[in-house]
Amino acid sequence: MPELAVNGGTPVRSTPLPSVFNASGRRFGDEEVAAAERVLRSGMLSATWGTEVAALEGEFASLLGAVHSVACSSGTAALHLAVAAVNPEPGDEIITTPISDMGTVFPILMQNGVPVFADVDLATGNLDPAAVEAAITPRTKAVLAVHLFGKPAPIHELRALCDQHGLLLIEDCAQAYLAPVGDVYAGRVGDIGCFSLQQSKHISAGDGGLVVTDDAALARRMRLFTDKGWPRDTDERTYLFLALNYRMTELTAAVTRVQLTRLQQVVDDRRTGAAKLTAGIGDLVGLLPPSDDGDHVYWQYPLLLEDGIHPWAAALTAEGVPCTPGYLTAPLYAAPALRGKATYGGSGFPLQGVEYPVGLCPNAETLINERLVVLPWNENYSGSDVDDIVAAIRKVHTALALES
Ligand SMILES: *Cc1c(COP(=O)(O)O)cnc(C)c1O
Repeated sequence: MPELAVNGGTPVRSTPLPSVFNASGRRFGDEEVAAAERVLRSGMLSATWGTEVAALEGEFASLLGAVHSVACSSGTAALHLAVAAVNPEPGDEIITTPISDMGTVFPILMQNGVPVFADVDLATGNLDPAAVEAAITPRTKAVLAVHLFGKPAPIHELRALCDQHGLLLIEDCAQAYLAPVGDVYAGRVGDIGCFSLQQSKHISAGDGGLVVTDDAALARRMRLFTDKGWPRDTDERTYLFLALNYRMTELTAAVTRVQLTRLQQVVDDRRTGAAKLTAGIGDLVGLLPPSDDGDHVYWQYPLLLEDGIHPWAAALTAEGVPCTPGYLTAPLYAAPALRGKATYGGSGFPLQGVEYPVGLCPNAETLINERLVVLPWNENYSGSDVDDIVAAIRKVHTALALES
């Protein structure tokens, strides 16, 4: 049997796979170059007087089948817009997941809300509706669900729960562009859907964010929140409420408009490659490919192991297939900002009396500490790239099974 690369053997793969960290794993073409040049040559880089951001908002809303879209400067900003639209009283609670990017959670704290973490499904890492229901209190104002790695969360169940309890539902779709949830896309079941254009997402302009909603009042509040509360739709010349500058630039919008034309193909190509990987490893014992009911859009490709994720991930990475054990090193609530209440000065506000102990969300902790290995996924993986990934996984699987 071939020696593992981690023990000095020859790696399955010696050339790097396409990666989002350079041109090999991104789809930026002449059209994006022309779009950026068009804006620069126009002399107008600001959306306040330009046309590109407004056009992008219209195009994104119609792609998603939404009435309104508001562009902003990042995915975190998009989530901040959504929480600001919820407009919690200080100390109000928003229920969310412990497995995500921190951009899901910090906007809650920035609006002086308390993030309440509900546990996740052990199979997908997405919020478990029963755990969300158990976390609802009289102070709950909203549920903020994440479609982790591109696999839709049980959003219709969460919708029903929110309706029953009079809560707003926010969808964090940063990892889930065009993921079908029934006959609509992720982002359209909640009151607000939030998207990111950061470098590693399905489409990118370096940074940027978009929200969609059908609610005119929520849309207006979010637009005002990108623009210091300054109402450009009236001639009041005043600041209507506390808000920041989260405006997207014309350059970002022009590039994103081209990226939008590539999005469906990006999703299709990610799905094709992932299906090939799943078929190639489906027979391996003790290793579970992601569950896919035709709805996974594969921002990443998560694998579930019975245990031993750290040696396993190190061995696979050494074979030339980089991967991350756990996705996170700890659930979000373990971060100093939350568990240590590192918020506003030494006050701990608004988390005084709130504890985030070890064991708060046992399934999330099990996934992060024992089960999850995440492979970066990419639309530019060729068939032979995926063959190499299959071969590397099979090699590691056999070798480590024999060792144990
Ligand atoms: C990337 C990401 C964010 C944050 O987006 P930024 O554009 O990096 O601010 C939020 N939530 C999830 C699930 C993400 O993947």
